[in-house]
Amino acid sequence: MESKSKDLSLKKDGNILNENKNEIRTKSSKSLSKEEQKAKELNINDENGFSSFGFNNSILNAIEKKGYKEPTPIQKEAIPELILGKDLLGQAQTGTGKTAAFALPIIQKLDRNKENHAKVLVMTPTRELATQVAESFKSYSPESSDLKTIAIYGGTDFRSQISNLKRKTDIVVGTPGRIMDHIRQGTFKIDKINCLVLDEADEMLKMGFLEDIEWIIDKLPSSKQMVLFSATMPNEIKTIAKKYLNNPAEIKIKSIKKESQLISQKFINVQRHYKLEALKRILEISNEGVIIFVRTKSLTTSIAESLETYGHSVSVLNGDIPQNQRENTVDRLRKGFIDILVATDVAARGLDVDRIKLVINYDFPFDTETYTHRIGRTGRAGRSGEAILFVNRRERHFLRNLENSLNNKIEELEIPNNKIINERRIKRLTHDIKRNSLLEKENEENKALMTDIIDTLKINYDMEDSDISMAAINLVLGNKPFLINDDESWIYKQSTPERDRSNRNSNRSRNLGRRSGGQNNIFETFKFNFGKVDKVKVPNIISSICLATDINGRSIGKIQIFNEFSLVDLPKNLNRDTKNKLKSLKIKS
Ligand code: AMP
Repeated sequence: MESKSKDLSLKKDGNILNENKNEIRTKSSKSLSKEEQKAKELNINDENGFSSFGFNNSILNAIEKKGYKEPTPIQKEAIPELILGKDLLGQAQTGTGKTAAFALPIIQKLDRNKENHAKVLVMTPTRELATQVAESFKSYSPESSDLKTIAIYGGTDFRSQISNLKRKTDIVVGTPGRIMDHIRQGTFKIDKINCLVLDEADEMLKMGFLEDIEWIIDKLPSSKQMVLFSATMPNEIKTIAKKYLNNPAEIKIKSIKKESQLISQKFINVQRHYKLEALKRILEISNEGVIIFVRTKSLTTSIAESLETYGHSVSVLNGDIPQNQRENTVDRLRKGFIDILVATDVAARGLDVDRIKLVINYDFPFDTETYTHRIGRTGRAGRSGEAILFVNRRERHFLRNLENSLNNKIEELEIPNNKIINERRIKRLTHDIKRNSLLEKENEENKALMTDIIDTLKINYDMEDSDISMAAINLVLGNKPFLINDDESWIYKQSTPERDRSNRNSNRSRNLGRRSGGQNNIFETFKFNFGKVDKVKVPNIISSICLATDINGRSIGKIQIFNEFSLVDLPKNLNRDTKNKLKSLKIKS
C-alpha cells in the first residue's frame, strides 16, 4: 500500500490536495495510453466514468464485467481520496455502491509481493455482509492476479479458516468476534496490515462490538489507512472517528430518501385468512426476483411449499438452515435458478441480490427499521424496485405510524382480480411466443427439424398452420384452463370500512361490466348444488353442461365455485328442455 501521497494530503490546504490529484491524473494519463486504448474499446472513456480514476486495465475489465456503466455518487467522491491514501469517514447506506468505493482503490493500490501476510482487514457486523464483501473483492480482483481474499466469521468451521489464514492471504474480511479469536490464538498475523475498513460501523456498535473493535484496532500496526463507513453518525461513531482516523476526508451521501424514492411502496388490505390467496395473485403479476418476508421460520417453509405446488421456483432462508446452504440459496437466486425467496428478517440481513425486483412484507415488520431494511433488498444501486406490505384491519394504525416515521405516504394497491391476472397471462404468453420465435432463428439445426415436423403434420394429417400453432400452444399450457375464473368476491371485502363503501360501489359496477363483457342482459345466473367440497373444477362444469345440453362452451359466462354450490352465467332465454336438463345436471369430475 502506498503511503507517499498520504503525507501530502494530510495538509488541509485544498490546493495542495487538488494539485496532488491532478498530478496523479496527469501521471496516469501519460503512462496510460494503453489504458485509454482499452477504455475506448470498453466504451468507458467518459471523463465521469471509471477510467478517470486511473484504474488499471484488469480492474476496468472487472468493472465492465459487473455491468457498471458509471461510478455511483459515493464512488465518485471516495475513490480519488482513497487512491491518494487518505483516511475516510463516509456516511452512506448499503445499496449505494460503497463496497466498490473502498474495494476498487484498495485492490488498485495493493502491493503484490509474495508474502503470506494479509495487508487489508475489513470488519463487518454480520457474516452475511462479510461473505458479500469478500465476494465483491474477489469479483473486482484482476483474473490474472493471485490476489486472495478470505472471509472469517462465527458459526462456521474454525479449522478451515485457520488453514486459509496460513496460506497466502491479501485481504481478510470478517466479523469482530471471530477476528479477535484468531488474533488471540495467533492464527491471524496482523503485523503487515496497512489498511483497515470498518463497514456498517453503526450496526457493529448496535450489536455491542465496540470493545472488540477497539481491542482489534489497538493491536494493529499504527501506520495504516483507515476507512469508516456508517449509515448513521451517532456520537459514538464520531468519537471512534476522532480517536482513530487521521484527518479523514469526510463524505456524506444522502441516499436514504433517493433510494426509497426508487422503490415504489404500496400496501394491500388483506385479512389473515386470505393472505396466501392474495400472495398467489400478486405473484401472478410479478414472480421473478421476489423476496417474501414472514415472521416465523415455520411460516417460511409452509408458504414456500404452497407456492411450489402452485408452480413457482422458490426457496427458503431461515435461521435453521446452515450457513453454507444459505449462501448456496442466495447464489441460486442471484443466478436465476430460483425466482422467489421466503425469508425471516434475521436470515436475510444484508442480502444483496441485484435481481430482487419485489419485496413482499407478508407479515407486518416489527419496526420501521426492519421495514426499511426489508425494502432495501430491492432498488439496489439506482435500480428501481417495488415493495408491497400486507395490512389487516388490526394493523392499520401500525401502517399510519410507519407512514409517519418514514414521512412518506404508502399508497394502496388493489389485490389483482381475475381480469388483471388474465390480461397479464395473455400478455406474458404473447411475449414468450414472440421471444421464442427470435431464439429459434438463432438455432438453425432446430429450425430444420421443426420445419420437417410441421411439413409432416401438414402433408400427412392435413393440418393448417393455425391448427398446428394452436395445438403447440395447448401442448405448452398442458391442457389446463389458461384463464383463471376463481372466486374473487373476497377481494372486495378486504378494505377498510370507509374504503369498503366506495370500493364496493365501484367494484360492483366493475364486476357487472366484466361479468357480461358489457352485455349483462345476455346472461342469466344459474345455481348448481355442487361446489368445492365435491372437488368440482371449472372445466368439469363446462364439459358437463356441453355434454348434457346443446349449449356451446363459448357462450358460457362467469363461473363461480363456492364451497357447497356454484353459480354459472348461461345465455338468457334457454328453452324449457335445456333448463330441465340443467336441473338434473350431473357433474363429471
Ligand atoms: P453496496 O452499497 O456496496 O452494497 O452495493 C449495492 C449494489 O450496487 C451491489 O449489487 C453492487 O454490485 C452494485 N453497484 C456498485 N457499484 C455500482 C455501479 N457503479 N453501477 C451499478 N451498480 C453498482
